Amino acid sequence: MIASSQSLDNIGRKVSNGEVLDQEDIIFMYDEADLNMLGKLASSLMTRISGKKVSFVSNMILNYTNICNVRCNFCAFYRTGKEEDSYLLTKEQVVERIRPFYEKLGITQLLIQGGVNPDLDLEYYTDLFRLIHQTYPKLGIHGLSTSEISFISRKSRMSVRDLLETLVESGMESIPGAGAEIFSDDVRKLLGRPPGSGKQWLSVMEEAHKLGIRTSATMMFGHVEESRHKADHLLSILQLQKKYHGFLSFTPWNFEPGNTKLQETAGIKYRSGGMDVLRNIAISRIVFNSDLPIIQSSWLTNGIQMGQMAILFGANDWGGTIYDEKVIPATGKSVGNLRKESIINSIRQIGMIPVERDNLYRPIDTTG
Ligand code: SF4
Repeated sequence: MIASSQSLDNIGRKVSNGEVLDQEDIIFMYDEADLNMLGKLASSLMTRISGKKVSFVSNMILNYTNICNVRCNFCAFYRTGKEEDSYLLTKEQVVERIRPFYEKLGITQLLIQGGVNPDLDLEYYTDLFRLIHQTYPKLGIHGLSTSEISFISRKSRMSVRDLLETLVESGMESIPGAGAEIFSDDVRKLLGRPPGSGKQWLSVMEEAHKLGIRTSATMMFGHVEESRHKADHLLSILQLQKKYHGFLSFTPWNFEPGNTKLQETAGIKYRSGGMDVLRNIAISRIVFNSDLPIIQSSWLTNGIQMGQMAILFGANDWGGTIYDEKVIPATGKSVGNLRKESIINSIRQIGMIPVERDNLYRPIDTTG
């Protein structure tokens, strides 16, 4: 315990002096550091950045197709296109699905992503984004994973840079961080991700940041990864962030094994426990500190009470209402609806101040 305390003190000193932590520091925090002390350090850094304010967004997630030719071992959502429950929404269906959430619940962010559907070409996306933008002008479109973007770029024989410019002209505002998982190819091989797809994620994000497009970053933990893989993942994101400051937020989220191939092949019966979730939140805050100031708790995978605990361990964004999400229910886990009022209440219950934000993390209404 004394050794942990002293080492964590050194890490705290490094962070306060603005030094970048190294792989060893991060592995120590994963494998040896006392969780409560990690939480204390992370929470003090969070308070310096945002005081008692915790942001959240009114949003929906629209999964426009579940047909995907990547077929990751950790994904329960995808279909090959032959199953009865395979689907692809037309642009008119997408617009109608958004309507009640925009008109009645006042969402300001649309997170739109799906499978890598080989039948879709660039026009599907540009027409779709244009129509959404014209119909719901106050909605920030947070669209497409790096896997979808890379595929469309190859299919349309367009550079990623030109494609991103075209998508932005059509109405896309920012890019979600999906597909990052863990960057190491050794891990990705077991996850069923193509080799080089970790580097591809970083390179699409770099192109976006060069163009001034803001994006999110993520990490999926609780499967076959080791602490060193998580350390390298966090450091790769930090390195890119120091170059362009294009990431708006970071979300560490845990693998949901239900109905996935990985559940069988790697024998993972259960998702990570609460201590693991909090450790990942706290370490993310300590590693990124003010370089990537928004750390998001993931209530969708961990529930409301863990969402509250994550705030006390260094997160300062609740995430969103995420109406209509389809990926997590595919694992067999039931996801309740979380209205804006419940989020405000959950944040107030832990003595913090809820601040509603838009897609680009600008406050739109101080409800506290
Ligand atoms: S995680 Fe994404 S890319 Fe992988 S199979 Fe599922 S939908 Fe396809």
